Amino acid sequence: MILITGGAGYIGGHTAINFLNAGYDLVIFDSLETGHIETIETLKQIGNVSFIKGDLRHPDDLEKLFSEYKIDAVIHFAAFSLVGESVFNPAKYYRNNTYGTINLLDAMIEHDVKKIVFSSTCATYGEPEYTPIDEKHPQNPINPYGASKLMVEKIMADYDAAYGLKSIKLRYFNVAGCDEKIRIGEWHNPETHLIPNILKSTFTGGQTFKIFGNDYNTPDGTCIRDYVNVEDLAEAHRLALEYLNRENKSDVFNLGTEQGDSVKNIFDTCEKVLGTEIPVEIAPRRAGDPAKLYADATKAQTVLGWKPERSIEQSIKTAYDWECNLQKIIKDTD
Ligand code: UDP
Repeated sequence: MILITGGAGYIGGHTAINFLNAGYDLVIFDSLETGHIETIETLKQIGNVSFIKGDLRHPDDLEKLFSEYKIDAVIHFAAFSLVGESVFNPAKYYRNNTYGTINLLDAMIEHDVKKIVFSSTCATYGEPEYTPIDEKHPQNPINPYGASKLMVEKIMADYDAAYGLKSIKLRYFNVAGCDEKIRIGEWHNPETHLIPNILKSTFTGGQTFKIFGNDYNTPDGTCIRDYVNVEDLAEAHRLALEYLNRENKSDVFNLGTEQGDSVKNIFDTCEKVLGTEIPVEIAPRRAGDPAKLYADATKAQTVLGWKPERSIEQSIKTAYDWECNLQKIIKDTD
C-alpha cells in the first residue's frame, strides 16, 4: 500500500488517479485545510482508497496512520505552497512544510518505511543564474516557501546517510490542466495561479484578469514560466517510485517541459482555445517574481524515462472545462 500525503489536493489528487489506474492500493492522509473531501470521494470511485484526516504537525495522527496501515512507500505532497503568504507568515510554512515533514520521516523510520517521493519545487533555486535551470543550479531560495522545501531536501539527505531512508526529490516548475475526464482539477481559495485566473475572468461576476508586470526583460515584457500538464507531472511520480524500487537510491529531478511561455503567450493561447476575447488589465509587478524560469529536464527524461506529452492547449482546454464545473460546485454550496 502506498501512502499519499496531501492526496485531496490538486497535484496529489491527480497523482492518486495515476497510481489507481496502475493498480496500486492507496491510503491518503490529508488535513483538508486546502484539500477537498470531494476529491477523496471521486478517488474512491476509481480504485481502492482509504482516507485518514490528519495533520503532519500532530505526531499522534501519524502514529495512528502507520500503525493502522502496512505502508510500502510514501508520496509526499502535503504542504502550503503560496509564495506571497510564506513571506508574511513564515511560521506556517516552517511548521507545516519542514517540521511536519520531519514528523513524517520519523514515523517512517519508526515503522521501517524507507522510500519517499517528495514534492519539491523550482523555488528552491531562487533567482536564476542561468536558464534553462538544471539540477546542478545553485539553490538560494528567495522566499520562506522555497526555503521550507530546501530544508526538507537537506534533511532527507541526512536521513539517508544516517537511517538509510531513500528519497526522490521532484522539483516542479509550473503546473497546469486537469484530469482529461474532468473529475478533479485546480481548486484553490483564494486562487493565485495564472491559468485559472485567466479563465475565471471569462465568467460574469468574476474578477478581471491582471497581468502582473509587462516591463520585464523578456521579449514581450511579461514573465516566462514552464507549464507542465498535471497528468504528465503525476506520471513522473509513479516513474520515480518505480525507479526507487528498482535502484534503491536517493536522487533529484527537475520536472518541466523545457518550453518557456510568457504570461502574454498563455493569455493569447487561452483566447485562441476558448475562441473568445477575455477581459484583461495590466497591473504592477508581483513581489518575488523572477523574470524567467524554465527547466532543463533532461535528467528526468533519460533516467526516469519521463516524457511530458500534453500540450499547453490541452492543459488550457481541460482547465477551462474544470473551471466550468467548479463554478457550478461553488454556486451549489453557496
Ligand atoms: N500571473 C499574472 N496574473 C495572475 C497570476 C499570475 O500575471 O493573476 C503571473 C505571475 O506574475 C507569474 C506567472 O503568471 O509571472 C505565473 O504565476 P503563478 O502564480 O501561476 O505561478 P508561480 O510562477 O508563481 O509559481
